[in-house]
Amino acid sequence: MQGRYNTDFSGLVKCADCGWSLSYGENRQNSKPYGHYHCSKYGQGTRQCSMHYIRYDVLYAYVLSRLQYWSGLVQHDEERLLKRLLNATDKGQAAARKKQAAELKKAEKRKAEVDTLFARMYEDWAAGCITEYNFSMLSGKYQSEQLNWTQRLNSFNPLSPLKARTPQTQKNGLP
Ligand SMILES: [Zn+2]
Repeated sequence: MQGRYNTDFSGLVKCADCGWSLSYGENRQNSKPYGHYHCSKYGQGTRQCSMHYIRYDVLYAYVLSRLQYWSGLVQHDEERLLKRLLNATDKGQAAARKKQAAELKKAEKRKAEVDTLFARMYEDWAAGCITEYNFSMLSGKYQSEQLNWTQRLNSFNPLSPLKARTPQTQKNGLP
């Protein structure tokens, strides 16, 4: 492979950060010139992305090893590989659903806590236990947190009935 570079992967390799194609280039300043791919968004001199970079020989060896791995599995037991791939997809989806359910539960729990704190603080204020100044300071804090959690809960499912709970204050400023 020494000295024989081509652009096999052009258009196929993308920057993990910006999604642009990596462009091919060659470093001839090195005593042993080598090919490499780098982020084309960075390469334009716009500095819009960072210098993501991979050597051609490193990429070639990696892709080759993956191809050998998968073709080995196909030859060994195609049926089992197919089952494994389908199972992996199921597992991935189940894990994503589980993660989202956990986040939803956490958001609901914290929102309930903030609601309780807010109600308690209001009672304290009504009973004269906290000053007007502290009341307005804390109520601002809790209200913004309430709004934040409400929005996060809504973002889980835009069609959920939670949308109806969006505070009235958001509607201010409409004609
Ligand atoms: Zn990039």
